[in-house]
Amino acid sequence: MAELVAEIAAFRELLADRRQAGKTVGLVPTMGALHAGHRRLLEIARAETDVVVASIFVNPTQFNRQDDLHQYPRTLEQDLAVCRAAGVDLVFAPSATEMYPQAQLTWIDVSALTQHLCGPGRPGHFQGVATVVMKLFQIAQPDRAYFGEKDAQQLAVIHRMVKDLNVPVTVVPVATVREPDGLALSSRNQHLSPSEREQAAVLSQALFAARDLVEHGERSAAVIASAVAPILKDVLLEYFSLVNPENLLPVERVEGPVLIAAAIWIGSTRLIDNVKVTPLA
Ligand code: AMP
Repeated sequence: MAELVAEIAAFRELLADRRQAGKTVGLVPTMGALHAGHRRLLEIARAETDVVVASIFVNPTQFNRQDDLHQYPRTLEQDLAVCRAAGVDLVFAPSATEMYPQAQLTWIDVSALTQHLCGPGRPGHFQGVATVVMKLFQIAQPDRAYFGEKDAQQLAVIHRMVKDLNVPVTVVPVATVREPDGLALSSRNQHLSPSEREQAAVLSQALFAARDLVEHGERSAAVIASAVAPILKDVLLEYFSLVNPENLLPVERVEGPVLIAAAIWIGSTRLIDNVKVTPLA
């Protein structure tokens, strides 16, 4: 029946009761504006754990642009309906002052994984993400926590943070949910005008084309990037990179599993996406 809780103390109490009864807890951290991508995470959590918790928090410390923070869609009533339909037990939706009652002096910085891809374009972003996820882990103490592969760098950062800091949680990656034309679902898609929305399909098209090239034997990252460049010629490209999926360092030649990731700008909307591919030997 998706109970809404805004306060950490009350939320902890509700969870403690359930944990004492021997229930496992699954956490799905979100920033709200829930769509079918989030829904997939909730459904998997529902299938795998006894008590499903969705957090809805537009975390100010991960926004490096104030306009992006202010424009971020906030749709709590609709989100609660999505949570109810997905069988969520508790929705934790704290205020910014509940999460940050005083200046945050302790930060988590998985810096080696944030030197490439989205790191340079979004200074401080991953530090904000890692820190708020760690706070949510401390608050909810979930057995399992669910994250989308759509945000591959975020997933790598959280995986590494959990390992490095011995956090007793299993991080569960969830495959990217896409529109029929390939566009990955994102809360930011709603900022696109109809013509921008149509244009946005080039992002997944370029990534799928790059994946096809790897599957057909191409091994040079530079050749792959220039082969797909025409697909992206009408949008502003922030990066298009082939990286090692574990350390996120750029590869020149594809010699094992590779993450192909890109960020583009369509008007004032920034979109990211990625695919992972393992070449045949
Ligand atoms: P957000 O609300 O954008 O912070 O996303 C919350 C969680 O949902 C993150 O773990 C995202 O990776 C995940 N997510 C967002 N979009 C998708 C998608 N299209 N498919 C799967 N997971 C997604």
